Amino acid sequence: MQTSFILSASLAIHAAIVANEADIESLDRAIGDGDHYINMKRGSEAAASMYNELLALPADEALNKIGSKLLSTIGGAAGPLFASFCMGMAKIVKHNGGNTALEIAAAFAAGVQAIVQRGKAQVGEKTMLDVLVPVSTHFTLLAAEGKSNIEIARALKLTADQGLESTRNLIATKGRAAGLGERAIGHLDAGAKSCQVMVHTVCDLVIQGKNS
Ligand code: ADP
Ligand code: MG
Repeated sequence: MQTSFILSASLAIHAAIVANEADIESLDRAIGDGDHYINMKRGSEAAASMYNELLALPADEALNKIGSKLLSTIGGAAGPLFASFCMGMAKIVKHNGGNTALEIAAAFAAGVQAIVQRGKAQVGEKTMLDVLVPVSTHFTLLAAEGKSNIEIARALKLTADQGLESTRNLIATKGRAAGLGERAIGHLDAGAKSCQVMVHTVCDLVIQGKNS
């Protein structure tokens, strides 16, 4: 995995979060406390601003530094969770290099697993995991089938859309929306929306051939 790709992804994610302000903000306002957009904006801005500092580092070190930065800049539940994701990914990239789709899928899966361990949630609890877990599972499957990077990226965008949509009719059992019971039904989860936006953004970079 090239550090330059991680950094391009950080810049693109920051731009995409800002472009989706209205959606992300209104979802956390509806069933959370309304700070998720600010948290995501602050975190993605901090990661993007590390561009020059990280460019010469190996990918795993860059991911670890981004993780530490997210931990100190994003408040709320999302900060430690996204920090765990980056650090979980870094551990695997350090060992496998993250150069093939299968290796990147393994690193992504480790990142998602780190979120599971940190947040003690699972699929079906109306969180970001309702996007990330199916994307990770599908990623590993498609990579194992030998699909091209572009085929994988196109497919994972749809998986992320379905994961996001799946949160609409769930009752939240983790996070701030957990106290709302059935009143959360009908609303998408804000963290799932951020993750869908980020998956789309990274997949679009791959589809546009900007992953080398
Ligand atoms: P806070 O909930 O502290 O206000 P944010 O608003 O930034 O933090 O993040 C809320 C999002 O974090 C939720 O929409 C949900 O997707 C995600 N989330 C909350 N708790 C968990 C958890 N235990 N595991 C995974 N994701 C979680
Ligand atoms: Mg919130």
